[in-house]
Amino acid sequence: MSSEPLAGFRRLGFLVVISGPSGVGKTSFCDHLLETRTDTVRSVSATTRPQRPGETDGRDYFFIDRAAFELRRAGGDFLESAEVHGQLYGTPERFVKDAIAAGKIVLLNIDVQGGLAIKARHPEGVYIFVYPPSVDSLRARLEARRQDGPVEIERRLGNAPGEMRRWREYDYVVLNEELPTALAQVSAIVEAERARVGRFAVSTPTGTAIAPHA
Ligand code: 5GP
Repeated sequence: MSSEPLAGFRRLGFLVVISGPSGVGKTSFCDHLLETRTDTVRSVSATTRPQRPGETDGRDYFFIDRAAFELRRAGGDFLESAEVHGQLYGTPERFVKDAIAAGKIVLLNIDVQGGLAIKARHPEGVYIFVYPPSVDSLRARLEARRQDGPVEIERRLGNAPGEMRRWREYDYVVLNEELPTALAQVSAIVEAERARVGRFAVSTPTGTAIAPHA
């Protein structure tokens, strides 16, 4: 998936933002892309949310306290930041910029406010909304994953309808009724976006790439 294109062509990196309500399975989409495409990297956000069992600092999130978060936010470290379900989350800008400059597809699993804030500034990115079959399906997933207590689950479900109403502001919507089908759709979107004319640079003075067979 990440093999070098023909001589003269260089692939440009870009952002892929995956949003949707809590419990819709956003992490599965990121993990699937990371496993199947060597040209993808995941941006690791900073958060004030407490670390859950099984999470690793620096891999799942950078877990920091509010004071440290505010300091980083004031220092302009974040591409976007938002308060989500009562906790602060932010996307470190340096990592995203460096990875894009290196030609990578940078995956952001972030909430709707954050996704749309980035879209306003970077419309060239790819914005995918993962839509659940129902709010009940979110409840079932949130309960099954046993990561949050009942109060936190209710808070997340309470926020879901407001988040779901914003799906039209994204470029793509993927209905997550059947996970394998939805994963295949997201892969197809990324593959097609990779092939967009605007996502290649050419390195000849005339702007015409020199292919070996030309
Ligand atoms: P969780 O606490 O379940 O890991 O994530 C809660 C919500 O915060 C999810 O919707 C997740 O996508 C979102 N989120 C994670 N990182 C960021 C970030 O850097 N910015 C924003 N705006 N949302 C984030």
